[in-house]
Amino acid sequence: MSLIIRNARLLDKDGTWDISTDGSLIAAVERNIPANGADQIDAGGRLVAPTYVNGHVHHDKSNLGDVMRPNRTNSFQECLEITWEHKRTYTVDDIVERASRAIEEGILHGATVFRVFADVDSIGGMTPLEGIIALREKWAGIVEIEAVDFPQEGIIRDAGTKDLMREGMKIGADIVGGLPWHEHLDEDARAHIDFCFELAMEYDRDIHMLADDTDNPNSRSLEYLAAKTLREGYQGRVSASHCGALAAYDEVHARKVIALVAEAGVSVSTNPHISLVAQGRHDTGNMRRGVTRAKDLWKAGVNVFSAQDDVNDPYYPFGRNDQQEVASFVCHTCHMTYPDEIRAVFDFVTWNAARALRLDGYGIAAGRKADMNVLCASTIQHVLRLQQPPAFVIKAGRILARNNIEREILGA
Ligand SMILES: [Zn+2]
Repeated sequence: MSLIIRNARLLDKDGTWDISTDGSLIAAVERNIPANGADQIDAGGRLVAPTYVNGHVHHDKSNLGDVMRPNRTNSFQECLEITWEHKRTYTVDDIVERASRAIEEGILHGATVFRVFADVDSIGGMTPLEGIIALREKWAGIVEIEAVDFPQEGIIRDAGTKDLMREGMKIGADIVGGLPWHEHLDEDARAHIDFCFELAMEYDRDIHMLADDTDNPNSRSLEYLAAKTLREGYQGRVSASHCGALAAYDEVHARKVIALVAEAGVSVSTNPHISLVAQGRHDTGNMRRGVTRAKDLWKAGVNVFSAQDDVNDPYYPFGRNDQQEVASFVCHTCHMTYPDEIRAVFDFVTWNAARALRLDGYGIAAGRKADMNVLCASTIQHVLRLQQPPAFVIKAGRILARNNIEREILGA
């Protein structure tokens, strides 16, 4: 069955347009498309954009917030310990159930692609990754889920993780993860990155690391990751998340690293929700907020994207899996509030995220994938101002979700 969206406003085009689908693809974007028996949606002049891409989220931990004990010391260390307590006894079914609730929230907020990090380490063994692969299978044909083979406890400091990560690629992980800054020594962080490249090149897979997720200006894994990307000819296939230390470097060093990241074609994901609550904790006077220099990276030509990271877990008690909310946080924390900056931030959760994940056929044009949100307003500014979910979420040419965005005051 084909579908026509009428009266759609599009980015970078004047007026309103009709969009028709043929199977899972967009067939045409024209002024007036004849009905020909197709189902029809009236967008009413609202913006239609491609569905959101959530390129960094930990659904193996999602919704642990409902079952975990309280954090008694209000410390990050205890967040880790609470996670370990659960990770020891995770089951595949438990992960799929908790993660599926987060995926459902993500869909209702207009995301249809999720890059999901799954812990692979000596505490939980392969179970988190097996759970996320089962999640991927469960949602196959509905939304796209990528499983990241992610060494949450380090590689050098957590003996046996290399073998587990190799096993992770054998059982079907899509992406090689990394957490180099978490190692004890700089040389270990470099060995960590070297191993991840070795594994990624063996399986011809992309790489996504959490780099320098700290206020510590001596944390220098992002620059090595970028240099290694250049040396191995892996430009365009590597992403780095958080990069909080970049906000702590002195200006001269920060500029050097930003230029290197741009040259290496490394995409950078900023995840402001978690950075805002996890970083700056040791500051007593002028509290830093730990969000990486997204605006400077964007201006330097780096492919910047933004993602949710956490949903109701031991590290972060909130999170609706909502990329509009993520974009709003970026606008606020990175001082990106002028029209070209708001547009750039919208790209962080759409086109740039799609580029980082190397998705095919992304965008609103004939021949592209019919993965579209009919948003709540006619401009990005108002979509982000109102923070209402999309009226319709369309995946592969069919309506996947609907939100009632009509509101009225009854007492006036
Ligand atoms: Zn993360």
